[in-house]
Amino acid sequence: MKKVGVLALQGDFAAHAAALERAAAEAVFVRDAEQLDGIDGLVIPGGESTTMLKLMHYDGLLEPLARFGREKPIFGTCAGAILLASEVSCPSQESLALLDIGVERNGYGRQVDSRVTRIVPEAEFVERTGAGKLEAVFIRAPIIRRVGQGVNVLARYQGDPVLVEQGRHLVATFHPELTSDSRVHALFLEKL
Ligand code: GLN
Repeated sequence: MKKVGVLALQGDFAAHAAALERAAAEAVFVRDAEQLDGIDGLVIPGGESTTMLKLMHYDGLLEPLARFGREKPIFGTCAGAILLASEVSCPSQESLALLDIGVERNGYGRQVDSRVTRIVPEAEFVERTGAGKLEAVFIRAPIIRRVGQGVNVLARYQGDPVLVEQGRHLVATFHPELTSDSRVHALFLEKL
């Protein structure tokens, strides 16, 4: 069974652990750099990216996480997506820069701070994981404003990419861990 770490500094890490277990992986909470040694991949959950970044600095995790990401897959959701992006705006902040995407924090604006919607994924997502719309939970989500060459878009909402991959890494601006559909987590497990 694949062993996946869930960064458990802040945010909805418990929901990710449950979703990974539903997708038939073993989930372990990661709170320090040594724990990165024994895992096949890592999830950076949703929460507050600025707070997570401060805790990463405080715990000396920034460089170990960047190093981990040069070798093993990382899946970032929402705040995790912001932390993986190469370019962050509104306001700009430091990131691990493991995917060539530009994200705008809280990009959906106040009136759509949070919503649940059903989106039609790209044909490739369906081919790789199975048919059916994706239930997408957006909570003060970032918008992906730019995708670089080599970034593959697997789902869009209102024309903007919401699920993308580049090489071994995967990013969702919504929260698949909050639904019973395990396809997005299963897609990540394929990368391990
Ligand atoms: N708005 C948050 C941030 O900028 C992300 C929200 C979330 O992860 N649900 O970090």
